Amino acid sequence: MKRIIFLPFLCCMVCIGCVYAGNAVTPPETPPKKEPRYHLYLTFDDGPVEGSEDISAAVQAGQIKINVFVIGSHIKQSSRLKSYYQLYELNPCIEIGNHSYSHADEKYIRYYKQPDKVLKDIVKNEQVLGLKNKQVRLPGRNMWRLKSKSLNDNKSGVAAADLLFKKGYTIFGWDLEWRHNERNGLLLQTVDDMMYLIEKLLRERKTFTENHLVFLCHDEMFLKDWNDIEELKELIARLRATGLYEFNHLSEYPQN
Ligand SMILES: [Zn+2]
Repeated sequence: MKRIIFLPFLCCMVCIGCVYAGNAVTPPETPPKKEPRYHLYLTFDDGPVEGSEDISAAVQAGQIKINVFVIGSHIKQSSRLKSYYQLYELNPCIEIGNHSYSHADEKYIRYYKQPDKVLKDIVKNEQVLGLKNKQVRLPGRNMWRLKSKSLNDNKSGVAAADLLFKKGYTIFGWDLEWRHNERNGLLLQTVDDMMYLIEKLLRERKTFTENHLVFLCHDEMFLKDWNDIEELKELIARLRATGLYEFNHLSEYPQN
């Protein structure tokens, strides 16, 4: 009688042991790696200025691809600014584009009245800086000229943009700007603000090309406050952590 009761009990214990042992030796399943859904292009305008060296160091440390649009007249201002430009040239994370030699002397309406002079200014910048591509961002204008599509934010500048495109230049505008105070360089939007806006624009398909977002910063944002570069690093780290974004150079931007 005792033996009959004991046998089923023993069988149960053996079965439970197998199951337990099986669980113990099977490695936990790794979740499938998420494919990035969106492409981000971080772009920095108006360098080289004080602060450009911090951008160069930050993106190299984080191994993040970025584009900079530079102004040739700045490297004539001091040997230090020239050395910051050389940091950009030596940094494999950075692709360098043309933001004109003069930046229109900040007088945009007058500048764009003479498309031939705009072309000359762009060509001069290309030569002075030894630029290796034909990527342009127009000073003071958010205009696009790609192979099969274009966009204008202003009547003034249309003729100049068309002329540059005819001469073989590609013009990149932007989808979202990280705004800053132009007098003191301080950021006007937080990392949380930018995380929210990036995700919202892409989700609502409000970018120039669906699933691709061109993000505009200015080198001078990192001029005075060391904390600002920490905020840039935080934004990059948080974007990366979502697994949703891939960072690309503008040379990889779809042209069609
Ligand atoms: Zn600019």
